[in-house]
Order: sequence, then C-alpha cells, then structure tokens
Amino acid sequence: MKKPLIVIDDEIPFVFGVLEAFFEVHYLPGAKITNSDLKNALALLVRTRTRCDKTLLKNTPVQFIATATVGEDHLDTEYLIQKNIKWTNAAGANSQSVVTYTWCAILEILKFKKQKFRDIQLGIIGYGKIGSTLYQWARALEIPCLVYDPFISDPSKQVPLTSFENLLKQSDIVSLHVPLTSTGPYPTKALFAQTTLEKMKKNAFLINTSRGEVVDNQALFNHLQSHPDFGAVLDVWEKEPHIHLELLEKVFIGTPHIAGYSLDGKANASKQAIHVLGDFFGFHELKKFKPVIQSETNELSFEANGEFSFYHNLFTQIYPILRDNEALKKSPSSFESLRKHYPKRRDPSAYSLKSYEIQQKNQSVLKKMGFVL
Ligand code: NAD
Repeated sequence: MKKPLIVIDDEIPFVFGVLEAFFEVHYLPGAKITNSDLKNALALLVRTRTRCDKTLLKNTPVQFIATATVGEDHLDTEYLIQKNIKWTNAAGANSQSVVTYTWCAILEILKFKKQKFRDIQLGIIGYGKIGSTLYQWARALEIPCLVYDPFISDPSKQVPLTSFENLLKQSDIVSLHVPLTSTGPYPTKALFAQTTLEKMKKNAFLINTSRGEVVDNQALFNHLQSHPDFGAVLDVWEKEPHIHLELLEKVFIGTPHIAGYSLDGKANASKQAIHVLGDFFGFHELKKFKPVIQSETNELSFEANGEFSFYHNLFTQIYPILRDNEALKKSPSSFESLRKHYPKRRDPSAYSLKSYEIQQKNQSVLKKMGFVL
C-alpha cells in the first residue's frame, strides 16, 4: 500500500528517520515550502518559518499540521477550521528553556544595576506555562512579583494579580509571556507601543521572549534613545530575521529567537508533534517515540561568595546568555544561521547536583528550578 506523504521542515531535530516506516517523507527548508510541494501531501510538520494559510494549502490534500513550536501564530487557524484541517502545537514543550533564558537575563540586569533579588519588583505579563513557572522561580528567591493576565482569576489570592497600569508603574523588570493575538478583548499585537512604554519606570527593563510583534520595535528604539536608563532584552523581533539593526545595537541583550532552544525543549516539541501525528493517522507505534539526547551535562562548580553570586555563577555555566548576545550583535545578518547552528544547551532538569556541595537553603530553591538533587 502506498504510504501517505508528509512534508517536514528539515530543521526540526530528532525526527530524521523516525517516520519513514509509516510515511513517504520529504524534508524541505521551512521558509521554502510552497503550495506545489504539498500537491500530494497529507501531513505537514513545521516550525515558525512556514506560514500555513490559504496560499500554502489551497487545493492540497493536507489533513494534518503539527508545529513543533509553542506559538501557533504562523498558522491561519480560521482557514484550517474552515478546511477541516487538524492542527496541533507543542504547548509547554520548552517552557523550562524560556524560563532559564529569562532568568539568566534577569541575573545579568541585576549584576549590571548592582541590585539584589529583594531590591526589585518583577512584573510578569501572561501567566500561562512560562509566566507561571518564572513566577515560581522568582518567588523561590523571594523576589517581589506582580502578575497581569486578564484571562485568569485566582480566588485563593495567592498570585499577586494586578492591573496592567499598576504593573507598568511599579515594576523594575517587566517580562512578556503572552501569545501574539490581534483580535479579542485583549489583543497583544503592539501592546508595548509608545504610550505603554511611557507608563513604565524611566529606568525599567523590558524582556520580550514572547513574539516580536507584541512590542512595536520602532517605538522601543525611540524610547531607548530618549530614556538612557531604560533597558531591553529581546529574543524575538518584528520581521525576523530582518530585524531593526539600530535597535539591536541599543538593547542590553539581543538574541536570535533562541530562548526555547535547549536540547530538552526541542526534544519535547518533536516528541509531542510525533505523538499527535501518530494518533491522527492511527500509527500507534509512534506513541512510543522518545528522543534520545546525546549530550552530557558539564560538571558544575559552586561558588559560595554570597547569594547573588552563587546563582549568577551557576546559571552562567548552564546558559551563558551574553555569548548569544555577542554573536548576534557581531553578525546580525547571521540571524538564521545562528539558530541553525545553535550550541548545545541543556535545561536545569538535565543536571543532577550533589547536595553535599550546596547549602541547605539553596537546595530547595534549586529543586523548584527543576535541578535534580
Ligand atoms: P500559554 O498559552 O501557556 O500562556 C499565555 C498566557 O498569556 C495565558 O495565560 C493567557 O491568558 C495570557 N494572555 C493572553 N493575552 C494576554 C494579554 N493581553 N495580557 C496578559 N496576558 C495575556 O503560553 P506559554 O507557553 O506560556 O508561551 C508564552 C509565549 O512565549 C508565546 O507567545 C509563545 O509563542 C512564546 N514562546 C517563545 C519561545 C522562544 O523561543 N522565544 C519559546 C516558547 C514560547
């Protein structure tokens, strides 16, 4: 019997060779997949670089699309519903990776400003998988936090939910963890434009790992020009990979959309996509697919020279965020190739720590951050 055809973005890791027993597989560069490539395809496995809309899918037999990413704003879901095409995303797959990135950015901001954990107010916008995990990490170190998410309620009053305006006014660091939306009661597209930025503290820092279009990049550039103490950390950009080059020069940290790029995050995303694909086509063997990560973790060293220095030293060993900042600033036109050849990075959960080397009070914090102790 003829196998169904699946087209796969050739940059999706851990899937090569996995589907061949069930599908005829065509691997193509994600940004270059066109309508004619899908003439006979029943399934499509993509990342953010393939816009799945009418132009791509018109008159094709595609029945199923899996994106091995958390965001699904590159899928025209209205069109997919209309055409009865089933889709799935990899919800939560790389949350730990994005939280690690955000945490490392916070550590660098604190180091730069010579502040301690309890000196700042952290504002978290979007309390989903990533925002709520970041909140738990921050609270483990008693960092004061405020949270804004109009779609959640907390009758137990444990989460410090507040209004958007109040969060902007009070926070020293604001971190964005929302989906990109342009409709509904609380659209996030260009949520951070000039008027919003002006409501923030003059020396605040804005971190965006969500989607580039949530922040109006020209407005942010203008704001950084006129507010020398304001800072920004951007992993995601409008019009990636053709990013605002003057803005890149001005940001405190700028990286090429790699916050979720730990090996563990990528492996989880591929696994989730393949499991749902197997379900859809009735290939239940695929449910057993478990990617094998062939990368050892380094031995970590622990420095006991104060609380901040302990965490800064530890996290710099598992993720040196400034390395990614330097690489992009040195060669902005390499945005895509820096992603393609991204160095191996592991999540905290891949590290088994020796408890006798770590003070008791730090042990419980590190467990909450996912390390194995
Ligand atoms: P999630 O769906 O679990 O959570 C999103 C939260 O945002 C939800 O609780 C929702 O209620 C809230 N929200 C929606 N609109 C809002 C608004 N206007 N104001 C405040 N809150 C609002 O998503 P997640 O898994 O936590 O991911 C968050 C974002 O991170 C997404 O945009 C995703 O695409 C992005 N992401 C980026 C990377 C990367 O590599 N940079 C990796 C993974 C995820």
